[in-house]
Amino acid sequence: MSTAGSLYVIGLGPGDPKMLTEQAKIALRQSQVVIGYQGYFASVQDIVQEKECIALPLTQETQRAQVAVDRALQGEAVCVISSGDAGIYGMASLVLEVLEQRTANVPCPEVAVVPGVSAVNACASLLGAPIGHDFAVISLSDLLTPWELIEKRLKAAAEADFITVLLNPKSIRRHWQYGRAQEILAEHRAPETPVGLVRNAYRSDQSVTTTTIAHMTEPMVDMLTTVIVGNSQTRCWQSRMVTPRGYPVAETP
Ligand code: SAH
Repeated sequence: MSTAGSLYVIGLGPGDPKMLTEQAKIALRQSQVVIGYQGYFASVQDIVQEKECIALPLTQETQRAQVAVDRALQGEAVCVISSGDAGIYGMASLVLEVLEQRTANVPCPEVAVVPGVSAVNACASLLGAPIGHDFAVISLSDLLTPWELIEKRLKAAAEADFITVLLNPKSIRRHWQYGRAQEILAEHRAPETPVGLVRNAYRSDQSVTTTTIAHMTEPMVDMLTTVIVGNSQTRCWQSRMVTPRGYPVAETP
């Protein structure tokens, strides 16, 4: 039996190499094999060029995890790369699930999940301070989650006045879900509630827009966009969104 290798699952951040953490760089440098979606390799080109890079297309996430686990079980140092943070709708859970399945009777490789800057906090920062209070992150993609469950969570978040971060809001094939999300949010929150839209955060064609629940379906929204819907306390100030934490800000006389 071969000695188990090591397995890193890392988040690359939103796109700008400056947002790749030092710990993620170390994990990449220590790996022999790097596995990910083709589009993710460009931002780490200088670190991975001497390594074996295995690029598998979108929809082949399970195969990526299986190849990664198999190679680690053969004794190699393997790194799986995800965009943003690998634990947020990324590869971390899938890799651990495959690992659990395949190591029932064999030694488990060393495994570490390395955090990355998620689109959630990257986009929030570009908008100012919209997630300064309790927030919910909801993916509108119903490819792996039944729409009924997504709608139930949207309603619960809207009703409980959570700031609501919408990921995967719209794609070429999924176009009505975002409009339905607006309807649900509008049932529980004022139409003038601030909404921020960030497309391609920390990439060359970044755009940042603020609008309201009433108008949130007007700007262009796609799979490269994150939408942050404020809570009942969120305000706009100089095209920034601010959700108060609750500290008193009145000047002392
Ligand atoms: N693991 C990723 C999220 C994957 S879900 C993370 O932590 O960032 C993919 C969704 O994230 C996209 O559909 C989009 O809504 C959002 N997203 C990812 N990168 C983004 C970026 N650079 N700018 C804006 N939104 C982004």
